[in-house]
Amino acid sequence: MSDFSCKNKRRACFLDRDGVVNVEVSYLHEPEKTVLETGIVEALKAIHKAGFLAVVVTNQAGVARGKYPESDIAKVHEKLQALLAACGEKIDAFYYCPHHPEHTGECSCRKPNPGMLLQAAKELDIDISQSLMIGDRMSDVKAGINAGCKASYLVRTGYGLETLAKEPDPGCPVSDNAYTAFMDFIKGKK
Ligand SMILES: [Mg+2]
Ligand SMILES: [Zn+2]
Repeated sequence: MSDFSCKNKRRACFLDRDGVVNVEVSYLHEPEKTVLETGIVEALKAIHKAGFLAVVVTNQAGVARGKYPESDIAKVHEKLQALLAACGEKIDAFYYCPHHPEHTGECSCRKPNPGMLLQAAKELDIDISQSLMIGDRMSDVKAGINAGCKASYLVRTGYGLETLAKEPDPGCPVSDNAYTAFMDFIKGKK
C-alpha cells in the first residue's frame, strides 16, 4: 500500500438517517414531520471541523412496500438540509436503499449490507478504514463493520434504547447521540 494513494483520501462519518439525523417517525416521508434529532447539529459541526464528510446512508424500504413514492425521499432530504442550513450545517451526501427483499429481491445496498457505504467511498474518494458509522439499529452497526469502518457506534436516540433492550451487549461502542458518538471516536474511546 503506497501512502500516496491513501493520503489524499477523505474520511467520512456515515450516519443513519431516521433516529440519528432526524427524529424517528414510522415511514417518514413528509417534510412537515421532519425534525432534527438531539445532538445532530453539534455532531455535524464537530464532523466538519475535524475534516470529515457527513454522509447519510438510509434504508427506505417504504418505497418497496408502496408506503410512499421514491420522490418523497428527496423532499425529506431537502427539508433536512433547510433545517440544518438554518443552523449553519449540512449533510454532504445522501445515499438510500429503496428496496426490500420481500418486495424487490435481495440487493447489496440494504443495510446491514455495505453497498451504500462502498458506493459513497468510490464516488467521494473516502478511506473507509479511517471512517466511522453511527446508527440506532444493529443493521447500521453491522453495515459499518461489513464495509470495513474503523468503528461503528450504536446511539441511544431513535430505536437505540429498544435495540439495547434486545441486545444488552451489542458488541460495539454505545453512545448517547450522534455528537457524543463522534466525540468518542475522535478521542479514541470505544
Ligand atoms: Mg434508524
Ligand atoms: Zn437496496
